[in-house]
Amino acid sequence: MTEKIIILNDGRSQAPAIPATLEPPTGSVQDTLARPLHDLRISITDRCNFRCVYCMPKEVFDKDYQYLPHNSLLTFEEITRIARLFIEHGVEKIRLTGGEPLLRKNVEKLIEMLANLRTVSGKPLDLTLTTNASLLARKAQSLKDAGLQRVTVSLDALDDATFKRMNDVDFEVAEVLHGIDVAHSVGLGPIKVNMVVKRGMNEQEILPMARHFKDTPHILRFIEFMDVGASNGWNMQDVIPSAEIVRRISAEMPLQPVNPNYTGETAERWRYVDGGGEIGVISSVTHAFCKDCTRARLSTEGKLYTCLFATRGHDLRQLMREGRSDAEISGAVAQLWRGRSDRYSELRTINTDGLSRTGGERKVEMSYIGG
Ligand code: SAM
Ligand code: SF4
Ligand code: SF4
Repeated sequence: MTEKIIILNDGRSQAPAIPATLEPPTGSVQDTLARPLHDLRISITDRCNFRCVYCMPKEVFDKDYQYLPHNSLLTFEEITRIARLFIEHGVEKIRLTGGEPLLRKNVEKLIEMLANLRTVSGKPLDLTLTTNASLLARKAQSLKDAGLQRVTVSLDALDDATFKRMNDVDFEVAEVLHGIDVAHSVGLGPIKVNMVVKRGMNEQEILPMARHFKDTPHILRFIEFMDVGASNGWNMQDVIPSAEIVRRISAEMPLQPVNPNYTGETAERWRYVDGGGEIGVISSVTHAFCKDCTRARLSTEGKLYTCLFATRGHDLRQLMREGRSDAEISGAVAQLWRGRSDRYSELRTINTDGLSRTGGERKVEMSYIGG
Protein backbone atom coordinates (compact mmCIF):
# COMPACT_ATOMS: atom_id res chain seq x y z
CA MET A 1 0.00 0.00 0.00
CA THR A 2 1.26 3.49 -0.82
CA GLU A 3 1.93 5.62 2.22
CA LYS A 4 -0.54 8.52 2.36
CA ILE A 5 1.23 11.84 2.53
CA ILE A 6 -0.65 14.46 4.48
CA ILE A 7 1.29 17.68 4.50
CA LEU A 8 -1.36 19.99 5.82
CA ASN A 9 -1.91 21.11 9.40
CA ASP A 10 1.10 19.12 10.48
CA GLY A 11 2.27 21.61 13.04
CA ARG A 12 5.49 22.29 11.18
CA SER A 13 4.78 25.99 10.97
CA GLN A 14 4.35 28.75 13.45
CA ALA A 15 3.64 32.43 13.39
CA PRO A 16 6.76 34.53 12.89
CA ALA A 17 7.98 36.62 15.78
CA ILE A 18 6.98 40.28 15.98
CA PRO A 19 10.07 42.47 16.44
CA ALA A 20 10.32 44.38 19.71
CA THR A 21 10.78 47.67 17.87
CA LEU A 22 8.57 48.35 14.89
CA GLU A 23 10.20 50.37 12.15
CA PRO A 24 8.21 51.62 9.14
CA PRO A 25 8.97 49.81 5.85
CA THR A 26 11.61 51.50 3.71
CA GLY A 27 10.61 50.11 0.32
CA SER A 28 13.34 47.50 0.28
CA VAL A 29 14.63 44.73 2.49
CA GLN A 30 17.57 42.40 1.91
CA ASP A 31 18.32 38.93 3.23
CA THR A 32 21.63 37.61 4.59
CA LEU A 33 22.89 37.08 1.02
CA ALA A 34 21.93 40.65 -0.04
CA ARG A 35 18.94 39.44 -2.07
CA PRO A 36 16.03 41.91 -2.12
CA LEU A 37 12.39 40.87 -1.77
CA HIS A 38 11.00 41.44 -5.25
CA ASP A 39 8.45 38.76 -6.19
CA LEU A 40 5.57 37.15 -4.38
CA ARG A 41 3.87 33.96 -5.55
CA ILE A 42 0.50 33.34 -4.03
CA SER A 43 -1.22 29.97 -4.11
CA ILE A 44 -4.95 30.63 -4.06
CA THR A 45 -6.20 27.04 -4.00
CA ASP A 46 -4.71 23.63 -3.21
CA ARG A 47 -7.17 21.93 -5.59
CA CYS A 48 -6.64 21.02 -9.20
CA ASN A 49 -8.62 19.32 -11.94
CA PHE A 50 -5.42 17.74 -13.35
CA ARG A 51 -3.33 14.99 -11.78
CA CYS A 52 0.03 15.70 -13.39
CA VAL A 53 2.24 12.77 -12.56
CA TYR A 54 5.10 14.99 -11.41
CA CYS A 55 2.92 17.22 -9.20
CA MET A 56 -0.30 15.63 -7.90
CA PRO A 57 0.05 11.91 -8.63
CA LYS A 58 -3.28 10.09 -8.44
CA GLU A 59 -2.03 7.54 -5.93
CA VAL A 60 -1.58 10.32 -3.38
CA PHE A 61 -4.15 12.89 -4.45
CA ASP A 62 -7.06 10.47 -4.66
CA LYS A 63 -10.67 10.76 -3.53
CA ASP A 64 -9.68 10.39 0.10
CA TYR A 65 -7.16 13.18 0.02
CA GLN A 66 -8.02 15.90 2.52
CA TYR A 67 -7.97 19.32 0.86
CA LEU A 68 -8.09 22.44 2.95
CA PRO A 69 -11.51 23.42 4.30
CA HIS A 70 -12.77 26.71 2.92
CA ASN A 71 -12.24 28.67 6.13
CA SER A 72 -8.56 27.73 6.10
CA LEU A 73 -8.03 29.56 2.84
CA LEU A 74 -6.96 33.17 2.98
CA THR A 75 -9.83 35.44 2.02
CA PHE A 76 -9.36 37.91 -0.83
CA GLU A 77 -9.12 40.70 1.75
CA GLU A 78 -6.39 38.84 3.62
CA ILE A 79 -4.46 38.12 0.41
CA THR A 80 -4.70 41.76 -0.65
CA ARG A 81 -3.58 42.94 2.75
CA ILE A 82 -0.50 40.72 2.69
CA ALA A 83 0.24 41.80 -0.88
CA ARG A 84 0.08 45.45 0.18
CA LEU A 85 2.46 44.85 3.09
CA PHE A 86 4.91 42.99 0.84
CA ILE A 87 4.77 45.79 -1.72
CA GLU A 88 5.88 48.21 0.99
CA HIS A 89 9.04 46.08 1.26
CA GLY A 90 9.74 46.29 -2.46
CA VAL A 91 7.62 43.59 -4.14
CA GLU A 92 6.77 44.60 -7.71
CA LYS A 93 5.64 41.32 -9.19
CA ILE A 94 2.84 39.02 -8.04
CA ARG A 95 2.01 35.67 -9.59
CA LEU A 96 -1.15 33.77 -8.67
CA THR A 97 -0.79 30.03 -8.72
CA GLY A 98 -2.02 26.87 -7.03
CA GLY A 99 -3.30 24.12 -7.49
CA GLU A 100 -5.22 25.48 -10.41
CA PRO A 101 -5.83 29.19 -9.68
CA LEU A 102 -8.73 29.51 -12.11
CA LEU A 103 -10.69 27.05 -9.95
CA ARG A 104 -10.86 29.61 -7.13
CA LYS A 105 -14.35 31.08 -7.13
CA ASN A 106 -14.51 34.74 -8.21
CA VAL A 107 -10.77 34.89 -8.94
CA GLU A 108 -11.50 37.96 -11.08
CA LYS A 109 -12.53 39.85 -7.95
CA LEU A 110 -9.16 39.10 -6.35
CA ILE A 111 -7.35 40.21 -9.48
CA GLU A 112 -9.27 43.46 -9.46
CA MET A 113 -8.28 44.08 -5.83
CA LEU A 114 -4.61 43.34 -6.53
CA ALA A 115 -4.58 45.38 -9.73
CA ASN A 116 -5.56 48.43 -7.70
CA LEU A 117 -2.38 48.25 -5.62
CA ARG A 118 0.63 50.40 -6.53
CA THR A 119 4.33 49.66 -6.09
CA VAL A 120 6.61 51.84 -3.97
CA SER A 121 7.39 53.89 -7.08
CA GLY A 122 3.66 54.33 -7.82
CA LYS A 123 3.44 51.88 -10.71
CA PRO A 124 0.87 49.09 -11.17
CA LEU A 125 2.08 45.66 -10.12
CA ASP A 126 3.38 43.19 -12.65
CA LEU A 127 0.40 40.89 -12.14
CA THR A 128 0.34 37.45 -13.68
CA LEU A 129 -0.99 33.93 -13.21
CA THR A 130 0.10 30.38 -14.00
CA THR A 131 -2.60 28.05 -15.27
CA ASN A 132 -3.17 24.65 -16.85
CA ALA A 133 -5.51 26.53 -19.25
CA SER A 134 -8.46 24.19 -18.75
CA LEU A 135 -10.69 27.21 -17.98
CA LEU A 136 -8.66 29.83 -19.82
CA ALA A 137 -10.71 30.19 -23.00
CA ARG A 138 -13.81 30.75 -20.87
CA LYS A 139 -12.20 33.20 -18.47
CA ALA A 140 -9.57 35.11 -20.48
CA GLN A 141 -11.71 38.16 -21.20
CA SER A 142 -12.96 38.57 -17.63
CA LEU A 143 -9.41 38.12 -16.30
CA LYS A 144 -8.14 40.79 -18.66
CA ASP A 145 -10.99 43.12 -17.73
CA ALA A 146 -10.19 42.62 -14.06
CA GLY A 147 -6.63 43.87 -14.62
CA LEU A 148 -4.54 40.74 -15.20
CA GLN A 149 -1.61 41.54 -17.47
CA ARG A 150 -0.26 38.20 -18.61
CA VAL A 151 -0.61 34.46 -18.20
CA THR A 152 1.80 31.55 -18.15
CA VAL A 153 0.31 28.32 -19.47
CA SER A 154 1.62 24.86 -18.63
CA LEU A 155 1.72 22.40 -21.52
CA ASP A 156 3.95 19.34 -21.48
CA ALA A 157 3.40 17.86 -24.95
CA LEU A 158 1.75 18.42 -28.32
CA ASP A 159 1.00 14.77 -28.75
CA ASP A 160 -2.34 13.96 -27.15
CA ALA A 161 -1.41 10.52 -25.85
CA THR A 162 1.72 11.88 -24.13
CA PHE A 163 -0.11 14.91 -22.71
CA LYS A 164 -2.92 12.74 -21.37
CA ARG A 165 -0.40 10.42 -19.77
CA MET A 166 1.09 13.42 -17.99
CA ASN A 167 -2.10 15.23 -16.89
CA ASP A 168 -3.67 11.83 -16.09
CA VAL A 169 -7.24 13.13 -16.52
CA ASP A 170 -7.58 12.72 -20.29
CA PHE A 171 -7.37 16.45 -20.99
CA GLU A 172 -6.72 17.29 -24.66
CA VAL A 173 -3.91 19.39 -26.09
CA ALA A 174 -6.33 21.19 -28.44
CA GLU A 175 -8.17 22.73 -25.50
CA VAL A 176 -4.97 24.15 -24.05
CA LEU A 177 -3.96 25.55 -27.45
CA HIS A 178 -7.42 27.11 -27.78
CA GLY A 179 -6.99 28.70 -24.32
CA ILE A 180 -3.65 30.16 -25.43
CA ASP A 181 -5.25 31.59 -28.60
CA VAL A 182 -8.10 33.22 -26.71
CA ALA A 183 -5.75 34.63 -24.05
CA HIS A 184 -3.56 36.06 -26.79
CA SER A 185 -6.52 37.58 -28.62
CA VAL A 186 -7.72 39.45 -25.51
CA GLY A 187 -4.21 40.82 -24.87
CA LEU A 188 -2.97 38.61 -22.02
CA GLY A 189 0.48 38.44 -23.54
CA PRO A 190 3.27 37.83 -24.09
CA ILE A 191 2.23 34.32 -23.10
CA LYS A 192 4.82 32.00 -21.65
CA VAL A 193 4.30 28.29 -22.14
CA ASN A 194 5.94 26.06 -19.50
CA MET A 195 6.92 22.51 -20.39
CA VAL A 196 8.24 20.29 -17.60
CA VAL A 197 10.57 17.76 -19.20
CA LYS A 198 10.80 14.32 -17.66
CA ARG A 199 13.12 11.76 -19.18
CA GLY A 200 11.34 8.81 -20.72
CA MET A 201 8.01 10.62 -20.45
CA ASN A 202 7.91 13.60 -22.82
CA GLU A 203 11.47 14.21 -24.02
CA GLN A 204 10.41 13.23 -27.57
CA GLU A 205 8.11 16.29 -27.44
CA ILE A 206 10.94 18.83 -27.05
CA LEU A 207 11.42 19.35 -30.79
CA PRO A 208 7.72 19.28 -31.79
CA MET A 209 6.97 21.84 -29.06
CA ALA A 210 9.88 24.04 -30.19
CA ARG A 211 8.76 23.84 -33.83
CA HIS A 212 5.15 24.62 -32.89
CA PHE A 213 5.92 27.76 -30.88
CA LYS A 214 8.73 29.06 -33.12
CA ASP A 215 7.64 32.09 -35.14
CA THR A 216 4.76 32.80 -32.71
CA PRO A 217 4.60 35.60 -30.11
CA HIS A 218 4.56 32.97 -27.33
CA ILE A 219 7.68 32.06 -25.37
CA LEU A 220 8.22 28.37 -24.74
CA ARG A 221 10.17 27.52 -21.59
CA PHE A 222 11.58 24.14 -20.72
CA ILE A 223 11.68 23.29 -17.02
CA GLU A 224 13.87 20.62 -15.52
CA PHE A 225 11.81 18.12 -13.54
CA MET A 226 12.36 19.12 -9.93
CA ASP A 227 12.52 17.32 -6.62
CA VAL A 228 9.75 19.42 -5.09
CA GLY A 229 7.51 17.88 -2.48
CA ALA A 230 7.64 14.32 -1.27
CA SER A 231 5.19 12.53 -3.51
CA ASN A 232 6.47 12.68 -7.07
CA GLY A 233 9.15 10.01 -6.76
CA TRP A 234 11.89 12.30 -8.07
CA ASN A 235 15.12 10.79 -9.29
CA MET A 236 18.11 12.55 -10.89
CA GLN A 237 17.97 10.11 -13.80
CA ASP A 238 14.59 11.63 -14.76
CA VAL A 239 16.10 15.08 -15.31
CA ILE A 240 17.16 16.16 -18.78
CA PRO A 241 19.67 18.97 -18.26
CA SER A 242 18.72 22.26 -19.92
CA ALA A 243 22.05 22.33 -21.73
CA GLU A 244 21.03 19.12 -23.49
CA ILE A 245 17.65 20.58 -24.43
CA VAL A 246 19.31 23.65 -25.95
CA ARG A 247 21.73 21.38 -27.85
CA ARG A 248 18.93 19.25 -29.26
CA ILE A 249 16.90 22.25 -30.47
CA SER A 250 19.91 24.16 -31.72
CA ALA A 251 20.99 21.23 -33.90
CA GLU A 252 17.85 21.73 -35.98
CA MET A 253 17.00 25.40 -35.32
CA PRO A 254 20.16 27.30 -34.31
CA LEU A 255 19.95 29.32 -31.09
CA GLN A 256 22.03 32.07 -29.56
CA PRO A 257 21.98 33.31 -25.92
CA VAL A 258 20.14 36.50 -24.94
CA ASN A 259 20.89 38.68 -21.92
CA PRO A 260 18.46 38.35 -19.01
CA ASN A 261 15.63 40.93 -18.72
CA TYR A 262 16.45 41.52 -15.07
CA THR A 263 18.55 40.11 -12.23
CA GLY A 264 16.80 37.13 -10.70
CA GLU A 265 15.11 35.98 -13.90
CA THR A 266 14.76 32.24 -13.51
CA ALA A 267 14.76 31.38 -17.20
CA GLU A 268 17.93 31.52 -19.25
CA ARG A 269 16.93 33.04 -22.60
CA TRP A 270 17.87 31.82 -26.08
CA ARG A 271 16.91 33.36 -29.43
CA TYR A 272 16.50 31.65 -32.80
CA VAL A 273 19.30 32.90 -35.06
CA ASP A 274 16.84 33.24 -37.96
CA GLY A 275 14.64 35.68 -35.99
CA GLY A 276 11.95 33.10 -35.14
CA GLY A 277 11.51 34.32 -31.56
CA GLU A 278 12.95 32.98 -28.33
CA ILE A 279 12.79 30.13 -25.84
CA GLY A 280 13.76 29.87 -22.18
CA VAL A 281 15.26 27.11 -20.09
CA ILE A 282 14.79 26.85 -16.35
CA SER A 283 17.67 24.83 -14.96
CA SER A 284 16.37 24.42 -11.44
CA VAL A 285 18.41 21.28 -10.91
CA THR A 286 21.58 21.59 -12.99
CA HIS A 287 22.24 25.31 -12.63
CA ALA A 288 21.00 26.73 -9.36
CA PHE A 289 19.90 30.35 -9.43
CA CYS A 290 19.68 30.82 -5.66
CA LYS A 291 22.13 33.71 -5.62
CA ASP A 292 19.58 35.90 -7.37
CA CYS A 293 16.44 34.42 -5.81
CA THR A 294 14.20 37.31 -4.78
CA ARG A 295 11.02 35.30 -4.41
CA ALA A 296 8.71 34.63 -1.48
CA ARG A 297 5.79 32.21 -1.60
CA LEU A 298 2.50 32.33 0.22
CA SER A 299 0.57 29.10 0.64
CA THR A 300 -3.18 28.78 0.24
CA GLU A 301 -3.64 29.01 4.00
CA GLY A 302 -1.33 31.95 4.48
CA LYS A 303 2.00 30.39 5.31
CA LEU A 304 5.03 32.19 4.04
CA TYR A 305 7.83 30.11 2.50
CA THR A 306 11.13 31.74 1.70
CA CYS A 307 12.21 28.84 -0.54
CA LEU A 308 10.38 26.43 -2.84
CA PHE A 309 12.12 23.57 -1.06
CA ALA A 310 11.39 24.76 2.45
CA THR A 311 10.22 22.28 5.03
CA ARG A 312 8.59 24.92 7.24
CA GLY A 313 6.29 27.87 6.64
CA HIS A 314 5.61 30.97 8.70
CA ASP A 315 1.98 31.46 9.59
CA LEU A 316 0.90 34.95 8.54
CA ARG A 317 -2.78 34.00 8.65
CA GLN A 318 -2.49 33.45 12.38
CA LEU A 319 -1.09 36.95 12.83
CA MET A 320 -3.93 38.43 10.81
CA ARG A 321 -6.65 36.42 12.52
CA GLU A 322 -5.38 37.26 16.01
CA GLY A 323 -5.78 40.92 15.12
CA ARG A 324 -2.19 42.02 14.65
CA SER A 325 -1.67 45.47 13.14
CA ASP A 326 -0.16 46.18 9.73
CA ALA A 327 2.97 47.50 11.45
CA GLU A 328 3.38 44.27 13.42
CA ILE A 329 2.90 41.96 10.45
CA SER A 330 5.08 44.12 8.25
CA GLY A 331 7.80 44.11 10.92
CA ALA A 332 7.59 40.32 11.23
CA VAL A 333 7.92 39.87 7.45
CA ALA A 334 10.92 42.21 7.24
CA GLN A 335 12.62 40.44 10.12
CA LEU A 336 12.03 37.08 8.49
CA TRP A 337 13.40 38.18 5.15
CA ARG A 338 16.46 39.78 6.76
CA GLY A 339 17.25 36.45 8.38
CA ARG A 340 16.75 34.43 5.18
CA SER A 341 19.67 32.30 4.05
CA ASP A 342 17.93 29.69 1.84
CA ARG A 343 19.82 28.27 -1.11
CA TYR A 344 18.53 24.75 -1.40
CA SER A 345 19.37 24.20 -5.06
CA GLU A 346 22.94 25.32 -4.58
CA LEU A 347 23.30 22.96 -1.67
CA ARG A 348 21.16 20.14 -3.05
CA THR A 349 22.75 16.87 -2.18
CA ILE A 350 21.98 13.99 -4.42
CA ASN A 351 22.78 10.69 -2.83
CA THR A 352 24.17 7.75 -4.68
CA ASP A 353 20.61 6.48 -5.21
CA GLY A 354 19.89 9.66 -7.21
CA LEU A 355 17.37 10.96 -4.66
CA SER A 356 17.60 14.33 -2.99
CA ARG A 357 17.66 14.87 0.74
CA THR A 358 16.58 17.53 3.24
CA GLY A 359 17.97 15.99 6.36
CA GLY A 360 14.91 13.91 7.13
CA GLU A 361 12.26 16.64 6.96
CA ARG A 362 9.50 16.47 4.40
CA LYS A 363 9.40 19.22 1.80
CA VAL A 364 6.23 21.11 1.05
CA GLU A 365 4.15 20.00 -1.97
CA MET A 366 4.17 22.04 -5.20
CA SER A 367 0.37 22.07 -5.44
CA TYR A 368 0.26 23.63 -1.97
CA ILE A 369 2.60 26.57 -2.52
CA GLY A 370 2.48 26.78 -6.30
CA GLY A 371 5.38 26.70 -8.75
N1 SAM B 1 -1.92 24.45 -12.08
C1 SAM B 1 -1.18 25.52 -12.63
C2 SAM B 1 -0.29 25.02 -13.75
O1 SAM B 1 -0.06 23.83 -13.84
O2 SAM B 1 0.16 25.87 -14.51
C3 SAM B 1 -0.35 26.30 -11.62
C4 SAM B 1 0.32 25.55 -10.52
S1 SAM B 1 1.64 24.46 -11.03
C5 SAM B 1 2.17 23.79 -9.47
C6 SAM B 1 2.91 25.63 -11.48
C7 SAM B 1 4.01 25.10 -12.35
O3 SAM B 1 4.78 24.18 -11.63
C8 SAM B 1 3.54 24.39 -13.60
O4 SAM B 1 4.12 24.99 -14.74
C9 SAM B 1 4.05 22.99 -13.41
O5 SAM B 1 4.37 22.40 -14.62
C10 SAM B 1 5.24 23.19 -12.52
N2 SAM B 1 5.63 21.99 -11.77
C11 SAM B 1 4.86 21.23 -10.96
N3 SAM B 1 5.58 20.20 -10.45
C12 SAM B 1 6.84 20.31 -10.95
C13 SAM B 1 8.04 19.56 -10.81
N4 SAM B 1 8.12 18.47 -10.05
N5 SAM B 1 9.14 19.98 -11.49
C14 SAM B 1 9.10 21.07 -12.26
N6 SAM B 1 8.01 21.83 -12.42
C15 SAM B 1 6.88 21.45 -11.80
FE1 SF4 C 1 -2.45 20.78 -11.33
FE2 SF4 C 1 -0.64 22.47 -12.18
FE3 SF4 C 1 0.04 20.50 -10.52
FE4 SF4 C 1 -0.64 19.90 -12.99
S1 SF4 C 1 1.14 21.13 -12.36
S2 SF4 C 1 -1.37 18.86 -11.13
S3 SF4 C 1 -2.14 21.40 -13.45
S4 SF4 C 1 -1.27 22.18 -10.04
FE1 SF4 D 1 15.19 30.27 -4.48
FE2 SF4 D 1 15.13 28.16 -2.88
FE3 SF4 D 1 14.91 27.85 -5.54
FE4 SF4 D 1 17.26 28.57 -4.46
S1 SF4 D 1 16.20 26.64 -4.14
S2 SF4 D 1 16.29 29.47 -6.28
S3 SF4 D 1 16.55 29.87 -2.75
S4 SF4 D 1 13.45 28.91 -4.19
